[in-house]
Formats: sequence, C-alpha cells, structure tokens
Amino acid sequence: MKILRGIAVSSGIGIGKAFLFTSKPPELRRVRIPEKGIEGEKERLAAVISSTRKELVELQEKISASLGSEFADFLEVQIQILTDPALLSVCSRNIGEAQSAEYAFSKAVAEIARPLLDASGGLFKERLADIEDVTNRVLRNLLSMPSVSIIDVEKNSVVLAHNIPPSEIVLLDPRKVQGVATEIGGRTSHIAIIAKAFEIPAVLGVENLCDNLELLEDVVVDGQRGQVLLSPTKRRISTYKEELKELRAFRKSLYSKQPPRVVITLDERKIDVSANIELTSEIYALKRYGAHGVGLFRTEYIFLTKRRFPTEEEQYRIYSEAASELKPHPVIIRTLDIGGDKVLPGYEEANPFLGWRAVRFLFDHEEIFLEQLRAILRSSAHGNVKIMFPMISAISEIRFAKRLLESAKEQLKEAGQKFDPEMEVGIMVEIPSAALLADKFAKHVDFFSIGTNDLTQYTLAVDRGNEKISELFNHYHPAVLQLIRRVIGAGHKAHIWVGVCGEMAAEPLGIALLAGLGVDELSMTPCAVPVACRIIRNSRVDELRKIASKALEYSTPTEVIRYLRRQLSRTYPDLAKVFLARKSVCYL
Ligand code: PEP
Ligand code: MG
Repeated sequence: MKILRGIAVSSGIGIGKAFLFTSKPPELRRVRIPEKGIEGEKERLAAVISSTRKELVELQEKISASLGSEFADFLEVQIQILTDPALLSVCSRNIGEAQSAEYAFSKAVAEIARPLLDASGGLFKERLADIEDVTNRVLRNLLSMPSVSIIDVEKNSVVLAHNIPPSEIVLLDPRKVQGVATEIGGRTSHIAIIAKAFEIPAVLGVENLCDNLELLEDVVVDGQRGQVLLSPTKRRISTYKEELKELRAFRKSLYSKQPPRVVITLDERKIDVSANIELTSEIYALKRYGAHGVGLFRTEYIFLTKRRFPTEEEQYRIYSEAASELKPHPVIIRTLDIGGDKVLPGYEEANPFLGWRAVRFLFDHEEIFLEQLRAILRSSAHGNVKIMFPMISAISEIRFAKRLLESAKEQLKEAGQKFDPEMEVGIMVEIPSAALLADKFAKHVDFFSIGTNDLTQYTLAVDRGNEKISELFNHYHPAVLQLIRRVIGAGHKAHIWVGVCGEMAAEPLGIALLAGLGVDELSMTPCAVPVACRIIRNSRVDELRKIASKALEYSTPTEVIRYLRRQLSRTYPDLAKVFLARKSVCYL
C-alpha cells in the first residue's frame, strides 16, 4: 500500500480500480522505407485510417448515449479530417518518397490541415486541438499504442491523471467514476469545480501520482483528508467503506427535509441560496437540493464541450431551457470567461490568468460576443434571466460591455425578436481594482457577485491552480475579507444587491461569515445548498454580524479560521458538528 498526499477539493470517498488517463503524444522517429516496402506501407496507413475512423464513430455513439449528442459534436470534425482526399493523397505521395506511414501522416497533416486554419484568420484556432487529437489517435494506432478517453472508463473506476484537459473533464460520468486524482490543480481549478458539480470525490496536486502505477490496481481517493491510497490493504478498504456509509447517512440527514426555496435567518433576514452550474444537466441536482435559482451559469463549458464557438441558436436553446425550467427564479448567465485554466485549444498564452481572459477576449471578438449577448437576451423572454460580466477591472470595460449589449438589443428589435428590456446587468467583482472602486462600479450595474476564487488569486498573487503554493491560497486572508466587506458596503450604499459565487460561499465558515458581512445571496455547487440553508435558518444575522466584525480584526487567515470555528460552534451548539468538522473550511 502506498499513501500519497494532495489537496482535497471535492469531499467524499471514492473506492475503485485505477483508470490511468494520459494524453501524451507519441514520439516519432524518421525511418526510410525500402522501395519494395512502399506499397505495403501505403496499405498499412490506409487500414489504420479506416480503423481509426471506425473507432471515432463508435466513440461518438458512446458519448451520445451516455452524455447526450451535444457532447459528441466535436468528433465530427475529426472524422472529416480522416476522409479529406487532399490529406490522403499527400500521405500517399510522402510514403512514395520512402517515408514511414507515421512520418508521412504527420507531415501531411502539417502540410494540409494547419494552413487551412491559418487561412481562417484564427477564428477556428480551436480546431487545432481536434487536428492534434486525431493525429495522435492515428499515430498511436500505427504504433499499436492504446488511445484512452475518459468516456471509456468502466463502472467503479477511479480516474488518475497528470492533468485532464477541459474537453475530457466534461466526459467524467458520475455513474461510473468513483473518484478523481491528478498531479496538478488546486482547490478552485476547473477540475475541482466539475468534480464538485458531479459530486465526485477528488484530490488534486498529488505529486508522482502516475509514476509506477499498475492499471486496475485498487485505489481509494479520500476527499475528506486529501489522500490517495494505492493498493490499499483489505482492512483499509473496509474501514473506508464504513466511513462512506456514515458520511452518506450524515448527508442524508441534511437532505431529507427538502428545503423550500426561501431561506430566512432566525431574525428574519432573507438570503438567497442559489447554485453555480456549468451545464444544464445540473438543473436536476439544483432542484433536488432546493436552490433558489442559478447564481452563476459558467457558459464556457458549452464552448469547451463543443470545442468551437456555438451558434446563437444553440446558445439560445440552452439558456432558455434553464430560464423556463426555473421560472420565476433567477438564472444569472455569465458571459464567456475563457482563459485562465479554461483555455480554448489554440489560444494558449504564457500568462493566461493575466492575459486575454473573459471580456478582454470578447472585446477583440465582437461578433462572438454579440452572438452570446443576443442569445442571453432572447432567453430572457422565457424567464427571470440576468446577465453578468466577469473579469471587470475598469469602468471603461463595463461601459463598453453595456454598449455592446445595447447594440445586441437594437439588432433584436430590428429582427422582431422578443427579450426582457429590463434585464438586470451585473458584474463579478473578482479583481482588486474593481473591489477597491466598488462605489464607482455600483453606479453602472444592478448587482455585484463577488468571485472569491479570483479575488483571492489576484489579491494574494497566488495562482489558484498551482498545487505548490496552495497553502497560500486562502479566502480567509484578512486582505481578501477587507475587500469583501468593502464591496458589500459599497453595493448597499448604492442600493444594489450583492452576492458571492466563489467557492467560499459553499464552506460552512464562509457562509456564516459572509452572512455576517451582509450578503444578499450566496451561490454554490448544488450539493452544498442544504448545508448553507441549514446554517442560515438556524442563525441570527445580528449575532453573525458581531462575529464577522471581530473576525476582521485578526491579521492572519489561521487566526480568522480558528476564531470562526470556536465562536460559531459556541454560539450555535446545534451546528457545532458542521463548523467543527475536519473539513469545515470546505463544504461537507
Ligand atoms: C470566482 O472567480 O470566484 C468565480 C466564481 O468564477 P470562476 O471560478 O469561474 O473563475
Ligand atoms: Mg472568476
């Protein structure tokens, strides 16, 4: 048995067989084919291309059957590449020049497919990943190396990987995957967010995880303590099974009473508890857990699953489905926040978190932005839709975004399309400049939603996904708390509502602290909603206000956390178990 340590990002315990995911491209060597071997080499390549095509069609069917056809769309392009006559003829010419099938194929791709992308003016750059994927698949097949996709996991598997690219993350099927562990990533990285959304226990940032790993060996992912156990002893497995049973019973005790959608404290202050979603398939979980509505719809996953920019119609269908399903409750749709660790293939940058992210990217691609704005506006005719712009750092950005929103409205009016002309417009406050100038920003918007993940990252200069410095990433850092207090104060002074949608809003200590600081809304991963409702319903804002104000006097995150744990469990003995749980800084 081997125990490796990492960061617990999604709670629970996963027991299963190891499924090793690797996406490394195979290495190629140039080999000269003798004259008499040329025809045989051509036949070998033709056979592999044909079997790869078959493999892709099967994969497409498998993905459609288990997750829905929209997830399988991207494979269409890969299948087309393999039937392109120009590509096949260059392959044949290259082999005729004594190149091996592997070398001939990769050279042909470089000659035919890549220039097509360049000629497209960069807009189809994300296709690069499809070209790389399909090339790797053909090469792996030529070299008799197996290709793996997360969709191929068997039931009761634990996925282990160095990293999981965004297009594969969304293929994690919670019915089969018991746990996830990776070598890279942190508490608020996007693998963590999806693992939580799918309620899959996960531990990230596990050093040397993939070294010397035996496929199908037993693995335990301990999302409670941040450990991965390789080949655990039978005794360990049975202890973990016991713990899992207890954990499930404890969760059930919290979930059994379906909370109505209104959440009010003992002293009658209403706080909306909403859910963060990435895909419309999460609406079911959101309803089951009794969330008020959607506090954050991260639309980039629609783009990432399709691996292309979806059309206005495709987006409109998705947004209006969410709006009408949840009507009259709100659905806050955030415009595309691409960049950071959610990079569209082909748009990689040296410093992505400080680069061409979110609105910065969209301002340079107005046509894509306008399509999304029109789709969101049109969906507002079907329910209570609000729009939110992420990564706002300057007043000029909110002005420009609103100007484009007005243009989108004009275009829809001209086309006779319906939308809600009064749709609320908000921003995410997640950059210190916006937090510091919150009073100025408040004049331009209808609400603020504080993104504590990025606010922490940018205030403390700590990469949110870097496991090496994860100890430094802490939303309870007094500097972050001061900014949060400032934003809530500025919002209320300007009579606009203020919510929090970062991971802090899902943590018992964070929920109590933010309620004490005066937030109007908390939005979190759906399964954290029952705990949040329970804390809010059983506490008094006047008490929480005093606790929050004292917490802000401390100078280190450790002191803040220690104080909150002690004080909250003393004030609310009924909730002590929740506040004192080993993972009380994380959701249960
Ligand atoms: C945040 O930054 O806190 C947030 C909610 O947005 P994301 O995690 O998608 O960056
Ligand atoms: Mg953010």
